[in-house]
Amino acid sequence: MSRVLLIADHDGKTLNTGIARTVACARQLGNVHVAVFHAPDADAACAAAAKLDGVSRVLSVSHEANGTPLAAVLAPQIARLAAAHEGGYDYVLAPSTTFGKDVLPRVAALLGVPQVSDLMEVIDARTFKRPIYAGNVITTVKVPEGIPVLATVRIASFQAVGEAGEAPIVAAQAEAELPGHSRYLGLAESGGSDRPDLQSAPRVVAGGRGVGSKENFEIVFKLADKIGAAVGASRAAVDAGYVPNDMQVGQTGKIIAPDLYIAVGISGAIQHMTGIKDAGCIVAINKDGDAPIFEAADFGLVGDLFTLLPELEKALDA
Ligand SMILES: Cc1cc2nc3c(=O)[nH]c(=O)nc-3n(C[C@H](O)[C@H](O)[C@H](O)COP(=O)(O)OP(=O)(O)OC[C@H]3O[C@@H](n4cnc5c(N)ncnc54)[C@H](O)[C@@H]3O)c2cc1C
Repeated sequence: MSRVLLIADHDGKTLNTGIARTVACARQLGNVHVAVFHAPDADAACAAAAKLDGVSRVLSVSHEANGTPLAAVLAPQIARLAAAHEGGYDYVLAPSTTFGKDVLPRVAALLGVPQVSDLMEVIDARTFKRPIYAGNVITTVKVPEGIPVLATVRIASFQAVGEAGEAPIVAAQAEAELPGHSRYLGLAESGGSDRPDLQSAPRVVAGGRGVGSKENFEIVFKLADKIGAAVGASRAAVDAGYVPNDMQVGQTGKIIAPDLYIAVGISGAIQHMTGIKDAGCIVAINKDGDAPIFEAADFGLVGDLFTLLPELEKALDA
């Protein structure tokens, strides 16, 4: 049976929810090992990975250098593990999160193999579907025989597996020469909050340029808090400085698939829509009845968002 190495995205304690979705893809390809790179005494993420259905083993790679997820430092260790552990792996997967998109191309370069980016469907062992042209076209790609398949997995395209597993957690070595040219200095504040994670939340409220200012964005946060939703934004809202960049939804932002997406003051440019292609129900609130977002929306409210959002909140209270 083929061997799949899945690289865990985690923050030292919590496993990124995209891993359960990546496992759903990985288990179609073979026997799944999840590698968790972490600092010594910080292996809670291993226990979470061990519970996922379809994971047969968790490889715990503990190293002083792994306290912060620095791609330059992790990539040589991943390449080493992928090539050498028990004879090597046929597949190396990571979720298409910021972490996965950062680290996997470096692993591909070190192994000297091509990468499939944003894998969204497995056709057979070496044939996959992935989006191109901002998600307007789905292309079928075939990885040549004789090399490992490296892929980032589009998490919005897979349903998360359950948590009934009991995989053994084993210590693994990934000795590699670590580069000295990149060092972790600190993490800039990005306005993180206690709200649900944008990439995994079942409900998302997003604001666009129509919201008008950073201060006005409070109205979007308020509605989101009322319904327990994550908050997203269009690139125009991010570029205007209303909200931080990690809230951007779309082609150059986050690809998400919530059950409910409420777009507030967003026109519906194709680069934005590609980020919500797999959303369940789309609700658009826009004062321009001809805005393209209404073509994709399941429900549309035409009107001023500053009138409609408070009315919506009142209706939710009733
Ligand atoms: C290479 C490339 C990559 C890109 N990647 C992304 C991406 O990842 N994500 C993304 O979002 N965009 C992306 N863009 C930008 C994209 O093309 C659009 O410019 C952007 O999505 C527009 O954002 P918006 O809808 O907020 O703004 P606008 O297009 O300006 O729309 C604002 C909307 O708000 C409405 N409005 C204004 N005031 C009110 C009010 N009071 N009440 C109700 N409605 C109101 C207006 O009618 C309008 O429809 C990308 C562009 C390029 C070229």
